[in-house]
Amino acid sequence: MTSQRMRAVLATTNAGKVRELAGPLADFGVDVVGLDHFPHIGDIVEDGLTFEENALIKARTVAAETGLVSIADDSGLEVDALDGAPGIHSARYGNDWELLPGENRDDRNIRKLLYALRQVPDAQRSGRFVCCMAAVRPACLGGGELVVRGTWDGRLLTARRGSNGFGYDPVFLDPHLGRSAAELSREEKLARSHRGQALRALLARWEAFMHGAAQPSAD
Ligand code: IMP
Repeated sequence: MTSQRMRAVLATTNAGKVRELAGPLADFGVDVVGLDHFPHIGDIVEDGLTFEENALIKARTVAAETGLVSIADDSGLEVDALDGAPGIHSARYGNDWELLPGENRDDRNIRKLLYALRQVPDAQRSGRFVCCMAAVRPACLGGGELVVRGTWDGRLLTARRGSNGFGYDPVFLDPHLGRSAAELSREEKLARSHRGQALRALLARWEAFMHGAAQPSAD
């Protein structure tokens, strides 16, 4: 835990991510507010080629715009049978498909993914969630950057299971637990997930980062 409480901006408007991260960060002494508190920051163009680059783009932009420490995550699903797709395009994977009545964007992404994998046998349905997390201290607070990565290996199901979580959770099986990510509680998911692992790596290096000793790296 940090010696005194501090405030940081979580550089996301994704309510699912805020729900997963705000509690553990608060336990660690870091109170986060979401981007919805800073409406003057419009959409941030994520034109990096990797999760690391996109996390840094978001965290740098928000730190510069707010003068506060910023934490950003960029995450997605890599499916081996699809050569790593949807990868960094996970959030907008289904955007070229029509939205059906009653469907949200996550539903549409899953529908497109299940279709793309319809002929892929069980043995070849491996994949992983990846999360890169970047923390940026703005120049007015001394500057500094930190990047970490977490991964979660699993299997892609042939149909949805469970209703917790967000995104691709209903079709991602944790083989160790024998349950989909959407069948896990928030705490269970964070203990296993790419985001939980990245978060723990970030917090392990937080003190050094805040005191200026950390350099950018992704491990
Ligand atoms: P980002 O907001 O650009 O990082 O996009 C991340 C996208 O990857 C989300 O919109 C989801 O589609 C997917 N994703 C990332 N993490 C998770 C997760 O924990 N569960 C399910 N889907 C996820």
